[in-house]
Formats: sequence, C-alpha cells, structure tokens
Amino acid sequence: MRLLLVAYPGAGKGTQAVKLAAHYGIAHLSSGALLRAEVAHGTRIGRVAADYLKRGDLVPDDVVLEMLSVPVLEAVRNGGYVLDGFPRTLRQAEEAYSLAQQVEGIELQAVVHLRVSPDELRHRLRVRANREGRSDDSDDVILHRFKVFDTETEPLLDFYAQRGLLIDINGEQPVQKVFTDITAAIDDLGADRRPEVGQQDP
Ligand code: AMP
Repeated sequence: MRLLLVAYPGAGKGTQAVKLAAHYGIAHLSSGALLRAEVAHGTRIGRVAADYLKRGDLVPDDVVLEMLSVPVLEAVRNGGYVLDGFPRTLRQAEEAYSLAQQVEGIELQAVVHLRVSPDELRHRLRVRANREGRSDDSDDVILHRFKVFDTETEPLLDFYAQRGLLIDINGEQPVQKVFTDITAAIDDLGADRRPEVGQQDP
C-alpha cells in the first residue's frame, strides 16, 4: 500500500500515519520528523533546513527530494509507505510523479485529505506546543504555516483529485473514527478499480 496524507498542521497526519503504517505493515515516512532529526544530528541537510523549520517556511524542494528518495525506494521494496508531509508543493508532487513514471511500482495509490476547521487546528496545535515543545508551534509561526499551506500545498488537492486519487475525510471526529473512515475509503477505492468480471486480463 502506498499512501499520502495531506492536511494543515495539527490536523492529525502524524497520528493517523502511525495507525495506517501499523495496519498495512508499511513504513511511516514523515518529512517533518526526518528534517527535525537531520537538524538534531547537525548534518549538512539539517544545517540547511534549520532556519526554514524555525520560521515555518518550506525547506527547498531539492533538499527534501534528496532526503526522501532513498527512504521511499527502500519502503517500496518492503511493502509500501505512508507519506506524512511530502509532497507538499506542486514541484515536489510533479518530481515524485515523474519519478514514478520511470520506476515501476512506486506510484501513489491514494491521497488522504484530513479536513479540520481552523479553530480546532489552533486548539490542537496549542495543546501540542505544551506537550511537545516544538518551536514551530508558537502562535505566530502556526499562522504562517497555515498561510504556507494555503499557497503551496492546497493546490496539491486538485492535482491529485484530477488523477482520481483524492479521498476527503472529516478529520474532526475521534481518532479511531477518522482511522476507520480512511481504511473504508481506501477499500472502496480498491473495489472501484477492480476490473469488471469478463474484463480481466487473460
Ligand atoms: P511537519 O512536521 O510536517 O509539520 O513539518 C515541519 C516543518 O518541516 C515544516 O514547517 C517545513 O519547514 C518542513 N517540511 C516538512 N515537510 C516538508 C516538505 N515536504 N517540503 C518542505 N519543507 C517541509
């Protein structure tokens, strides 16, 4: 199974990605978590990324693509992935899409959009700031990250809808209900794509 979660910060991508990875036995690849680890280890990528993360700006596409290409290919060899936070710009999505044209069996099968209202997002991010102490969960950086989502990431929803991959989920429900809605929608997608009887390949 190869999935992508797209949503505003605080919508529950990380929580659902962990559950989906366990459910399907696939790798959870969080671009944000990988970038934070690069920063913590003081690597070359981490040194480039640090200031972008602090401001809530997107790290340059090339840096993110470089960081993720090996883990994605490795995940594909081991049963699949749930991508949490990548692609996040049209350029990243287009690069990933064109790579998928060249390497068989790595393309996305479903893109899950978690829909959560701005008030609820702000509430959840304040709770997370107290719990995890992430420096980019302060009020002003949160506002900036919402704007970055609107300009850079929101266009991905159309990009994937046009490719018939988008699943829209009400992310304001209890965690377990969000999860069962996602897996049910993924099952439906699979059913829709199953060939009709009599139309199978010989
Ligand atoms: P997240 O943990 O997904 O909220 O991401 C935290 C921060 O990591 C973002 O605000 C960006 O600075 C950076 N980041 C994560 N994923 C990406 C990506 N795909 N492209 C660029 N920057 C990213």
